Amino acid sequence: MARPLFQALPGTRDILAPDSQRMRALVEVFAEEAERAGFGQIVPPMFEDLGVFTRIGESTDIVTKELYDFEDNGGRRIALRPEFTASVCRAYVQSRPVPPWKSWYAGPAFRQERAQKGRYRQFDQVGAEAIGSHDPDLDTELIALAVRFYQRLGLTDVTLLVNTLGDKADRPGYLDALRAYFGQHLDALSEQSRTTLEINPLRVLDSKRPGDAEIIAAAPVLLDYISDEAAAAYRRVIDGLTALSIQFVEAPRLVRGLDYYTRTTFEFASNALEAAQNAVGGGGRYDGLVADLGGPDDPGVGFALGVDRTLLACDAENVFGAVETAADLFVVATTEGTEALALTQQLRSEGWRVERAYDGRSMKAQMKAANKSGAPVALIIGDTEAADGTVSVRPMAGGDQVVVSRSDLIQQLKDMLP
Ligand code: AMP
Repeated sequence: MARPLFQALPGTRDILAPDSQRMRALVEVFAEEAERAGFGQIVPPMFEDLGVFTRIGESTDIVTKELYDFEDNGGRRIALRPEFTASVCRAYVQSRPVPPWKSWYAGPAFRQERAQKGRYRQFDQVGAEAIGSHDPDLDTELIALAVRFYQRLGLTDVTLLVNTLGDKADRPGYLDALRAYFGQHLDALSEQSRTTLEINPLRVLDSKRPGDAEIIAAAPVLLDYISDEAAAAYRRVIDGLTALSIQFVEAPRLVRGLDYYTRTTFEFASNALEAAQNAVGGGGRYDGLVADLGGPDDPGVGFALGVDRTLLACDAENVFGAVETAADLFVVATTEGTEALALTQQLRSEGWRVERAYDGRSMKAQMKAANKSGAPVALIIGDTEAADGTVSVRPMAGGDQVVVSRSDLIQQLKDMLP
């Protein structure tokens, strides 16, 4: 076969049926859970003013290396969204809905990453954000929403990691402690981490490089540096999760890939996936982001779950499989007329899933296609049926073929089909 002229770009892929149906079904499960919890859907644009996303954090890879940004014809600096939270906050500042404003979303995000399995340049997320309340019960409710979603998919091997990053005011003291600690272990740190240390010591904790792990494991923890208020909020979340019997692991050195997080942070890791790409979702509080985007000093909390990776986790756990849906009816016609077209249209209007053969194929070839379609019933129109205004109804699993008048057909099929 000749090589195709074009292929989907690295890190992008076509999602074909039945995988696309499965993806839609996943989003529907999420939508149902989110709406039960009082979240309304937001559909923000896929691209925004570059500034919306640079607010995510100047020292994160997502902003410095991975943004797809360009100048449009009007000379505006634009970026494709690498995530949704900043857009949701921008929308909050723009529309000023009554807080707490709870919204959920689903759609693609774009990051120029090194493509590999489970890491794409266009990937899908579902997520939820609640803006305008400090109440830590909202943090717990959001985590519980994600947990219910995973449960409904049938996933059982997902670990919830929880931490607090304290408030912005708690940060300088902790950063000093980190600088001092990592400073003592500079020789053992990877070169990248030494560079990161100069820009943002917190992000060294996020290093996945093997050599760094040992040093990070003994680094100071933020919990020892946070205000009483932030500590109480954290305790409230821990107590809430415990009250809801949600299993979690406290991960005192968990930081996330974005700079805007404060207080509660959490991540979901699938133990069924390879460690490098096992994060299926994550989130937390971002109490300064709305203000950074020019809005009031309103807090926010939310999460985003990776759809592609969640589906990979489903594959690995053998749950939430793709379902190939068979046709209900298959129309076979050997006439020259428009009978097949008209009958198919009528049956589809009745709500059945109807397939047919094309290209004037022989009766034998059409019956073969009918068999392959999985439809339990074939409807045959030959010259006799066309002349008499009838249809031959053939149960594919065996049994007698009957000739039915067009006016009795719908009732006959209703009796036959489940
Ligand atoms: P983040 O905001 O980076 O934590 O992303 C939230 C979730 O989106 C992650 O836990 C992943 O499941 C998913 N995700 C992030 N980046 C990618 C990517 N490049 N390809 C596939 N999924 C991703």
